[in-house]
Amino acid sequence: MHQLDTVVFDKTGTLTTGILTLTDYLPIFENSDLHLTSEINVSNRQDACSTSVNPQLLQIAAAVERGSCHPIAAAILLEAEKQALPLLAAEDFYTEPGLGVSALVEGRRVFAGNAEWMTQQGVAIATELLGSCQGKTAVYVACEGVLLGVIGLKDTLRPDAKATVERLRAMGLRVMMLTGDRPEAADAIANQLDLPTTDVLAQVRPFEKARAIAALQAQGRKVAMVGDGINDAPALAQADVGIGLHGGTDVAVETAQIVLMRNALMDVVESIELSRATFNKIRQNLFWAFGYNTLGIPVAAGVLLPATGILLSPAAAGAFMAFSSVSVVTNSLLLRRGFRP
Ligand code: ADP
Ligand code: MG
Repeated sequence: MHQLDTVVFDKTGTLTTGILTLTDYLPIFENSDLHLTSEINVSNRQDACSTSVNPQLLQIAAAVERGSCHPIAAAILLEAEKQALPLLAAEDFYTEPGLGVSALVEGRRVFAGNAEWMTQQGVAIATELLGSCQGKTAVYVACEGVLLGVIGLKDTLRPDAKATVERLRAMGLRVMMLTGDRPEAADAIANQLDLPTTDVLAQVRPFEKARAIAALQAQGRKVAMVGDGINDAPALAQADVGIGLHGGTDVAVETAQIVLMRNALMDVVESIELSRATFNKIRQNLFWAFGYNTLGIPVAAGVLLPATGILLSPAAAGAFMAFSSVSVVTNSLLLRRGFRP
């Protein structure tokens, strides 16, 4: 930990709260005949979205996302619940990490996820739509190969994210961000943190996250990875030090060597400082113990006896030895100063 020179943060759920809010809602009405049938009471719905809401898009999205535990899924399900949308029957859930989800919703194959996921499923996205939801995470929803619309979700920074990044950089560390999200959404967060784009790795698939860490290590860097998700676990394992958030997924917590028990990012700074301070203590203690013994042992053995007549009695030598241990332990206990319990 004290040798680190690079700290890589996951974006969603680590630098950000991972509690997303729906901000954009763009249903495509031309394809409304493809919409699934369901009775929805539009009149008593509270619109949380910037554009008028086509309840079916959200309802269909909620049905597919029910099979996922991703923050995106949680946000969409919460919004559907808030609007009291009736649940559609869905089965055969499938999750493709870093891309999206799919399920059979009322007998039709529905996909929800990013642009790459749509491309893989052969769903065409109009160029106007590709540029939509600027700076946000865009979730495309398609049914039977036809795009139904886009949902834009916005994430917020953790309150201590900016201060943590600043402190780490002031300590001479390179701070980087690694995310599976698209570059536009990544840059929006990086801007708020004053991170240069060269230190942002976006659209990194889960299995590539570990490779990105390995690539940094191949450049001779000592890398810490901070993450919370299932998709971060391989990278946490690959890093020289894996740091997990206590509130993260079990696999991330299991894989990490350090777990931030208070979920405070500032504790990354704290752990590096504690590690550096600990190593300083180890060096000091070694120096004093060696010095002390280098002088004490010859004196106890009687080097001074012929010239000066000084000889340590066994009792005095024992007392000096005990004092040496007490001083080392006392010096170590001083570590507590400046560090919260
Ligand atoms: P991160 O690295 O930011 O935690 P992930 O690797 O989990 O992101 O996901 C990367 C991208 O994959 C997301 O930004 C999203 O576009 C898409 N995605 C992942 N899971 C889902 C899901 N359940 N629903 C829709 N899209 C998803
Ligand atoms: Mg995450």
